Amino acid sequence: MHEHHVINPATEELVATVPAATPQDVDAAVRRAAEAQRGWAALAPGDRARQLRRFADTVDAHLEELALLEVREAGHPLGNARWEAGNVRDLLEYAAAGVERLSGSQIPVAGGLDVTFHEPLGVVAVIAPWNFPMPIAAWGFAPALAAGNAVLVKPAETTPLTALRLAGLALEAGLPEGLLQVLPGAGPEAGAALVEHPGVAKVVFTGSTAVGKQIMAKCAAGVKRVTLELGGKSPNIVFADADIEQAAAAAPGSFLDNTGQDCCARSRILVQRGVYDRFMELLEPAVKTFAAGDPTDPATRMGPLISAAHRERVRSYVPESAPAAIRGDVPAGKGFWYPATVLEGTAEDRVAVEEVFGPVAVVIPFEDEAEAVRIANATDYGLSGSIWTRDVSRALRLSRAVAAGNLSVNSHSSVRYWTPFGGFKQSGLGRELGPGALSAFTETKNVFIAIDPLEETK
Ligand code: NAD
Repeated sequence: MHEHHVINPATEELVATVPAATPQDVDAAVRRAAEAQRGWAALAPGDRARQLRRFADTVDAHLEELALLEVREAGHPLGNARWEAGNVRDLLEYAAAGVERLSGSQIPVAGGLDVTFHEPLGVVAVIAPWNFPMPIAAWGFAPALAAGNAVLVKPAETTPLTALRLAGLALEAGLPEGLLQVLPGAGPEAGAALVEHPGVAKVVFTGSTAVGKQIMAKCAAGVKRVTLELGGKSPNIVFADADIEQAAAAAPGSFLDNTGQDCCARSRILVQRGVYDRFMELLEPAVKTFAAGDPTDPATRMGPLISAAHRERVRSYVPESAPAAIRGDVPAGKGFWYPATVLEGTAEDRVAVEEVFGPVAVVIPFEDEAEAVRIANATDYGLSGSIWTRDVSRALRLSRAVAAGNLSVNSHSSVRYWTPFGGFKQSGLGRELGPGALSAFTETKNVFIAIDPLEETK
């Protein structure tokens, strides 16, 4: 039997060994899910909502356990992991509140009544990455369940434990057997089997753009619904008229949080020439105080990378020949540590074009607004970005001109469970979270009911 070893990235210790699902396991799980979904969709909306609220309460009662599990399997600092567990609870509560509000519309027609229904899709597959294992699984399963679907989650090979625990908590909360199942396994086996299974109506994939493209192509064969949340190479644009102190103080968090393993990381820092030197002077102490260390220490802000292999990948982006402008410290000894690294460069450098997915940013100077927009948009990605300026008109012009799904002005905030999230261009397809979250897991059905059927045939 195949199995996956879950390794604590901060200590390199074995945390658990988890059996990997085979294509036969996937097939059996899809059948169980289809069975459970029929009863779930038939529940009165209020009953379905109540069960989801109970699930949210059960997650809330286990926040610390879930957070500690995330610390051990993903190396996230405890404060971040607590936020992630709380995010799952919040998503469930938000989705539960949508069940009784999933209204259709009544459209004026002659000779009858025209109404629309939001029908559930059936069985939904959620394929999650390792960088935010808990929240990203829940971004898919919470609204999908609320809309009346059953869900199969395929967590990343390195981080299956929190998803497995969440499925256990769903059962403890009273959700029907088979409704939310977790299938740990290899992407090309368990993941591919889910994508190809005719009983799966929609695939929600979060991960690399390369795998996302394969999944989209496979979904085409069955005209399967698909949502893709892929990579990013987001700009942080700092104009000379901004509050430079604030911009520099906020920049480290925007590419070092989660050790840069964040699809929204602002890993290209574009700084207007007039304030470039001042910005770099202020950035250095801000980066150095972004403490890397033991994830269980509440003072720690940055943990290790997920694996030794990933660390090698990150390292390959930092050329030996170009010394880093700023470099942070990391613990010596065991663990997949990589220091915070700021490079100075141009928009054409490989490190400024490809997603590094590590604590590495490149600072690029620009002359004026037009050049800032040109550099910001010179990428196949379009997920996030930040604009720092005190000029309201400029903030609005840039907010419209930068091709990305999630922008923030004088802030790096981009993900709230009640606002829509997703990418332009090759950063993705479709939106998650926000007021439309449940609709993404439904099919609109239009029904015309004649008032007098004979009238129509006259
Ligand atoms: P990945 O694409 O290698 O894997 C993601 C998931 O897909 C894993 O569960 C993996 O097992 C599975 N998978 C791999 N090959 C598969 C296949 N052939 N068929 C079906 N499933 C398969 O990505 P990763 O390295 O785990 O995650 C990092 C990437 O995720 C980064 O590029 C990052 O930008 C992206 N990401 C995007 C968002 C977003 O919301 N846009 C959020 C987080 C991460």
